[in-house]
Amino acid sequence: MPLVQGPLAIKVVYPPAQHLIESRDSNFIFGSIGNGRATLTINGAPAQVYPNGSFLAFVANPPPASPRYDLVAVAGNDTARSTHPVRVQDARPVLGLTGPLVVDTTSIAPRAPATSPMLLRGDERVRVTVRAPANATVWAAWPTASQWLVASGGDSLSGANFGADVPARSLRDGATLYVARGADTLRYALLRPDLLDTLSTRLVRAGDISVRPDTDRVIVGRPVPGGTYKWFFLPGTTLEMTGKMAGFTRVRLDSGLEVWIADADAVPLPSGTPLPRRVTLNARVRSAPEWVDIVIPIQGGERPAYFVDEGSRSLSVTLYGTRANTDIINYADNDTLLRTVEWKQVVDDRAELEITLRQPLYGYLVLWEDGNFVFRVRRRPTIDGRNPLRGLTIAVDPGHPPIGATGPTGLYEAIAVLPVGEKVRELLEHRGARVVMTRTTNDPVDLGLRPIIARRENANAFVSIHLNAYGDGVNPLVARNGSGTYFFHKLSEPLARPVERALVRHMGLPNLGVYYDNLAVVRPSWMPMVLTEGAFVIIPEQEAAMRTPEFQTRYAEGIVEGLEEYFRWLAKQ
Ligand SMILES: [Zn+2]
Repeated sequence: MPLVQGPLAIKVVYPPAQHLIESRDSNFIFGSIGNGRATLTINGAPAQVYPNGSFLAFVANPPPASPRYDLVAVAGNDTARSTHPVRVQDARPVLGLTGPLVVDTTSIAPRAPATSPMLLRGDERVRVTVRAPANATVWAAWPTASQWLVASGGDSLSGANFGADVPARSLRDGATLYVARGADTLRYALLRPDLLDTLSTRLVRAGDISVRPDTDRVIVGRPVPGGTYKWFFLPGTTLEMTGKMAGFTRVRLDSGLEVWIADADAVPLPSGTPLPRRVTLNARVRSAPEWVDIVIPIQGGERPAYFVDEGSRSLSVTLYGTRANTDIINYADNDTLLRTVEWKQVVDDRAELEITLRQPLYGYLVLWEDGNFVFRVRRRPTIDGRNPLRGLTIAVDPGHPPIGATGPTGLYEAIAVLPVGEKVRELLEHRGARVVMTRTTNDPVDLGLRPIIARRENANAFVSIHLNAYGDGVNPLVARNGSGTYFFHKLSEPLARPVERALVRHMGLPNLGVYYDNLAVVRPSWMPMVLTEGAFVIIPEQEAAMRTPEFQTRYAEGIVEGLEEYFRWLAKQ
């Protein structure tokens, strides 16, 4: 790290002025003061100053009454001062055992008025909650009955969480939440959900049926409203709606499973539209030089919701709301990739395809073609074991411009990773690969577009290059940092591991391992895809290193060597 001994100039990079600090008690603050020999205090606490004049500290959040950091830098006789305004969360109310009765009104759920529609079955239960003093009595009452809320946890200062499950039907009649202690009683109106009319089916179409189903546009299904991405549906899939909550629509996939899709993806169908009946007919296998298609005609002509479970040399594809009536599956007897396709009926309205492969799973895609559910399994490319990258197409995605994470001396992630991407391109081309760059300038490229660029170019692998940071509240002076590699589909795991090992070898930072993570750029399944977080740009030493061409090259070498190792392994399978 270079020694910088310039005039004092205090510059806070993070948090930006007026940033709302997400943590409750302490947070990190970093920037530069222009002189590596100076000392610095932040709200009176000493901060660590690095030779290049950058600083990184973890300090108590300022109080809501005075939301600012006062920085004082001293070098010899020179003193510089700076005030940096931020925003902090409102203090939690004190929910004491004595004094006036207070509750945390932000904790009341479900609270009227509704911000988005709530639609439920009459007999399903809704969790009613409030945070109140531990010695309060709490109940919900509606015209015909009432129910106590039971306290859990809690202490004499911050109160306890009270909760109970109440039938949606009772809330529908108009319920009030009561919190009482001694002579004090507080009342809050609870949200009135609408109830599903169970007599008529209500169908929705997930997404736009006119979207060509061979694009990368999928409808996302989640286990809970606002939850993680778990199911991916073809646009135009017809489903039964069974509820609405917090901006999400609950849909029934079959008799045993309901999931949530965004309200915006749920297009209501005219009432009286019949619930689709889907029956699979005799399937066939269609071989092509780069893939094998399993073509399953669906009687009824409606695309099914599906789920793909990846094995290392197998796949199981669940078709929801579908009955399997497949007698014959015709396949070529000597296909190099596909070994067998079998099916079973798991429950009345759920079918499952079991596909076994002769090679490791390398990529797949689901298509809908005129009443046929098409499952396309990608063949691995032809690989020259001695020059494993020769002839392959590799997509290189230097992480998110315009800014991304920022380092203490103001290095933007997007600026820092572009030269790494350029060096990856050079090294790959030197090894005979064709390279597709998602960007070569600092103009922004839409996140969703990057993997689509890779698929349109039929890339054999995709690497997204990033620099890491921490979320508010983490102490960067003690938290682990180093290199990490992320993947989403199991088929990408054999690529993630050699890339991670090679990054650690070349960059020399601690090994944070490989992560399964639901990240947009690595979510498609047509090729192995990984995202690398080679270093932490907010750690002063690592930011300084990322400014040097030597360290950028080491990052690039790690990626390329990992790719090489993966394809060498794949060739031998
Ligand atoms: Zn990033």
